Amino acid sequence: MLAGARAALAEVFGFQDFRPGQEAVVASLLAGRDTLAVMPTGAGKSLCFQLPAVIDDGLTVVVSPLIALMDDQVRGLRLQGVAAGALHSGRSREDNAETWRDAMAGRLRLLYAAPERLMLDGVMDGLSRIRLSRIVVDEAHCISRWGHAFRPEYLALPKLRARFPGVPVAAFTATADAPTRRDIVEILCGGDAAEFVFGFDRPNLTIRIAEKRDPLRQVLAILDDHRGQSGIVYRLSRKSVEETAADLVRQGYTALPYHAGMPAEVRAENQDRFVSEDGIVMVATIAFGMGIDKPDVRFVVHVDLPSSVEAYYQEIGRAGRDGLPSTVTMLYGLADIRQRRRFIDESDAPEEQRRVEHQRLNALLGVCETTECRRRALLRTFGEELEKPCGNCDVCLEPPEVLDGTVPAQKVLSAILRTGSRFGSGHIIDVLTGHMNDAIEQYGHDSLPTFGVGSEFDKNGWRSVVRQLVATGVVDIDTTGYGALQLGPRGRAVLKGEETVGLRRPSAAKTRRRRGDGA
Ligand code: ADP
Ligand code: ZN
Repeated sequence: MLAGARAALAEVFGFQDFRPGQEAVVASLLAGRDTLAVMPTGAGKSLCFQLPAVIDDGLTVVVSPLIALMDDQVRGLRLQGVAAGALHSGRSREDNAETWRDAMAGRLRLLYAAPERLMLDGVMDGLSRIRLSRIVVDEAHCISRWGHAFRPEYLALPKLRARFPGVPVAAFTATADAPTRRDIVEILCGGDAAEFVFGFDRPNLTIRIAEKRDPLRQVLAILDDHRGQSGIVYRLSRKSVEETAADLVRQGYTALPYHAGMPAEVRAENQDRFVSEDGIVMVATIAFGMGIDKPDVRFVVHVDLPSSVEAYYQEIGRAGRDGLPSTVTMLYGLADIRQRRRFIDESDAPEEQRRVEHQRLNALLGVCETTECRRRALLRTFGEELEKPCGNCDVCLEPPEVLDGTVPAQKVLSAILRTGSRFGSGHIIDVLTGHMNDAIEQYGHDSLPTFGVGSEFDKNGWRSVVRQLVATGVVDIDTTGYGALQLGPRGRAVLKGEETVGLRRPSAAKTRRRRGDGA
């Protein structure tokens, strides 16, 4: 069967070989299995269903939300001698009628259709009278209510399964996070499908995630390594974009701001300069980057925590498109986690969606606090397994020292409980390090048994510990008030000693030195 596929690959499509992963997806489709394939844009998704369509006898129906894309594919297929047609509102009534007649007469291998057209009674009736080899849903993430690409027309698609129960469904998308994958398999494939995820690795990117200590200085250190090169510095707010851009200009860099609050002409001008000139540092909110094709972006810095692994991955993906070595660095701290949580809690999305958004954030925090290869952890959140550590991330290059953090975690938890779960990290750390302040005096917290028990770390060390505990669900941060620490989902178990906690060792000496020369 796959020998036939290889022959068709060469004869029909003119390709020497499969790209990584394509063969496995093709085999799954040819075996008639419900399949979900997740591959980034440009990885070669369409071949994965076009090739089986050419080999199998019946008609392959391809649902797609994008008219231009359907037309492109149909044109390409016809040039290769494959009978294909499309039904959508962008074509004349006569053209659609002709395509439909061809499909009904068995003259087409592939029929592309916009979802609303496919679901018409007449179309469904017609399709039920001919032999279908499979139904392909392209851009399948449009079915997920969690995504930003949600399309109401896609909601009708599960009916296909009821209407054509024996016909396998193959879903394709470039969006890979776990909630979206679950949704797609649930809604389109009745809960069970062969899943393939590949092609997300970008080995030329050196991935670094670091504790945010003195962001401007940290950014300058990165820029210093990339003098004369182009890069993007992402910031969360418009105000911080303006401030950082001004700071960098003061330091002698050609830095331009970019955010949605700027006049359109200025934005366009800054973007043009970034694309056409060398050595420009674009300081931007996430409004920047979509559709920008600049192959030699050598660095991307996230000064603030992104919203999810997907957002992060998309943003770092703008570096090193030419395949040459590039660095991507994220800085983050406890305040970032708190802010992200608050954004989610304060949004007016339904509760279920907010829960998923918290899960998404947790997946990113897992990558931030991992003590294994970052690239591995990152790709795993997409469902892709990297066989061995990458050797090109901060964890691989400078492995962190991991210590048993169970006792420090218990100290933090007990300080939280004994102070009534009403105080923020600054206060809790003062209690642990035995540092007097007005509030401690006022509440008599200096007489607590936990007062001053935290001599193993200095304040910065404890900050790192608390951040790691929040990131891993041992401690929670209240987003409604001023950031009170509370027991997280894992808190009780850790306190009782039922669960252990691994921590990256906060380096006290380094912390002090950096703080000292930071001014
Ligand atoms: P996607 O839909 O995943 O964004 P496409 O299906 O448009 O990507 O494919 C991207 C490009 O890769 C196309 O130009 C396609 O012809 C090419 N391509 C796909 N498979 C192969 C292959 N096995 N060998 C060489 N080129 C391929
Ligand atoms: Zn690595």
